[in-house]
Amino acid sequence: MRRRIVAGNWKMNGSMDLVTTLVPAVSAAVASGEVAGSVVIFPPALYVPGVLKAAGGELEVGVQNVSQWRAGAYTGDLSAVMAADTGCHYALVGHSERRQYFGETDAVVALKVRQALDAGLVVMVCVGETLAQRDAGDAESVVASQVRAALADVTQDEWARVVVAYEPVWAIGTGKTATAEDAQAMHASIRQVLGAIGAPADDVSVLYGGSVKADNAPALFAEADIDGGLIGGASLSAEEFVSICRSLPADDNG
Ligand code: PEP
Repeated sequence: MRRRIVAGNWKMNGSMDLVTTLVPAVSAAVASGEVAGSVVIFPPALYVPGVLKAAGGELEVGVQNVSQWRAGAYTGDLSAVMAADTGCHYALVGHSERRQYFGETDAVVALKVRQALDAGLVVMVCVGETLAQRDAGDAESVVASQVRAALADVTQDEWARVVVAYEPVWAIGTGKTATAEDAQAMHASIRQVLGAIGAPADDVSVLYGGSVKADNAPALFAEADIDGGLIGGASLSAEEFVSICRSLPADDNG
């Protein structure tokens, strides 16, 4: 059975102050049973130990990126093995900002997926089309090809550690969100692709990301194939993020 998840991607934001104020507030909401699913925080890697400590075991923690290599002379890179060794549960891979600003291709994303899975992490793979691709009518084919490329060599027993995050590039940080209906249609299409490449498609969590806020989260999370959200800007406010976490519907999918 797939899990409902809300994940916060802090990107290159945050501070020790945010770690010691926001994380306990989110942990308290989870501990009190107000959240019908799992909550994951992706802080900048330097803050991972602090977030793990402040989370008190209530939250899962991940890195925003891992190296495509296992170890060696790659100055500045952080490996998936190190992320697991320091207590991370998750790795975020293929975020559109990594693809856009760091030149990550589908092939590099696939190598990172492999590193994360080999290290025992859950990998959250981001896919999504640009506005030009959507306007050209190519959104579904672009996303399908990103899913296939990233996940082609996942083995049967690894699917339980794969989460897909559909994040239309035009919706990230722009205040524009896909309608719940459009997002649902893409999520259903992603699930079909997952089935076609051999995944137990109904068991893989598929999250929506792109300007999710407290006011639009309930409608998005109510859709049949949307299992939660990957949250950027709104994950930096404890009040907003806790409210989004509380929007996960309580049903037997939690
Ligand atoms: C993201 O960066 O993954 C994201 C969804 O950002 P935002 O919520 O700010 O659009």
